[in-house]
Amino acid sequence: MAVDLRISGGTVVTATDSFEADVAVDDGRIVAVGDAGSVPDAEETVDASGLLVMPGMIDPHVHIEDHFSVDTYETGTGAAALGGITTYIDFAWQAWVGELSQYEEEGTLLEGIEEKREKGERAVVDYSVHGAITREDPDVLEELADVVDAGVTSFKMFTAYEIGLGNGFMNRVLERIADLDAVGVFHTEDPSVCDELTDQFKREGKGDPEWYPQSRPDYAEAMAAEDAVRMAREAGAKYYGIHTSCRKSADVLESFREDGSKVRAETCTHYLALDDSIYGEVGNQAMIAPPIRKPDDNEAMFEHLRRGSLDVVSTDHCGYMLEGKQVDNWWESTFGANSLQVSLPVVHDEAVNKRGFSYPWLVRVMSTNVAQTFGLPGKGTLDPGTDADIVLFDPGETYTITAADNASAADFSIYEGREVTGRVKRTFVRGELVADDGDVVGEPGHGQFVERDLPDWEV
Ligand SMILES: [Zn+2]
Repeated sequence: MAVDLRISGGTVVTATDSFEADVAVDDGRIVAVGDAGSVPDAEETVDASGLLVMPGMIDPHVHIEDHFSVDTYETGTGAAALGGITTYIDFAWQAWVGELSQYEEEGTLLEGIEEKREKGERAVVDYSVHGAITREDPDVLEELADVVDAGVTSFKMFTAYEIGLGNGFMNRVLERIADLDAVGVFHTEDPSVCDELTDQFKREGKGDPEWYPQSRPDYAEAMAAEDAVRMAREAGAKYYGIHTSCRKSADVLESFREDGSKVRAETCTHYLALDDSIYGEVGNQAMIAPPIRKPDDNEAMFEHLRRGSLDVVSTDHCGYMLEGKQVDNWWESTFGANSLQVSLPVVHDEAVNKRGFSYPWLVRVMSTNVAQTFGLPGKGTLDPGTDADIVLFDPGETYTITAADNASAADFSIYEGREVTGRVKRTFVRGELVADDGDVVGEPGHGQFVERDLPDWEV
């Protein structure tokens, strides 16, 4: 009996190894990886000679179709497909009322999950959500077990903005998270330091975007990270530091990894590939929190990734329009930038091409570690029996990034004009071709909500 698909003649890359092999896919799953002679015949064969055959990338930090993104599930997941990202984790919001909110009334996490699942019916690639806790409402503590049962096993908390939680409440949530064996995901910036500096800059008329990074300094990120990770350790909860941007913050998190089991963290593509000179070049387009830092911080991110004290590279993709960036003062700008479509080529270029990181490392930090950290056992690997989420990548093709190619609704790219070597050629989600040589070919609705397990961080 012939299987559905065979990917032939490529170099398979896993989290630990790379080797020449064919990959056979049937009914949406990988069924064999091996020598051409050992892999079953297929109805369709894809020639992957000269290409890398990697597990689909998994991005655990994405904003699509909500308060922080103009992307719909169709445009956002199209960008993901073109970027070789086959699963991503978005946010289900506990509805809050405030300036940043589109909600008219408060709601629960379970309602937030339902809202995202309905929107996700047009998704091209697979997705999950983190539960985002936005209010100090003790009722949420009662809800967490049901949220875990609904396949959402991680909870995001912010220390800053109107949705920021105080240490006391975060501490209570962390105790509950520890009981449930779930994961606490933290955006850490000390709000009083950032707010005071922002107010000062406003009074002094320092509205030029080049002032922006100084309003949210690296030490403020490290301060809040230290508080949160310390509380997580006391509670015995798993801690995941989101968008680590600087040496000081990464050093703090590393210092709490002594027992090796309960602290993990990510950085984002832009903290690897861009430094604060970007604010002089593209102004508010690069308005992102935490800010893009100094060249030394770029290198610190690579040092921590090399040591394994940072585990993951994510995008923090937020689809915004130029219109929201074309304002007189940086504090009037929207915060966030799109990058799902270009993250893999940019990280490949910066890490593998320029700094000698390996391909298995690339697979680990952009796929396998994410699956393992967030409870996605059927993803992030090419092992037989797992989902046939596969990206075919040409490591030698050079091209220039331009927003003209954006599948995202966003009309700019902070990587505009950057030449990168390495390009996504084809992306498969559960055996279906969703991106083909720069075109989104997946059907909206092919993407599925993935119920996640409680992850085991001991392995
Ligand atoms: Zn984010």
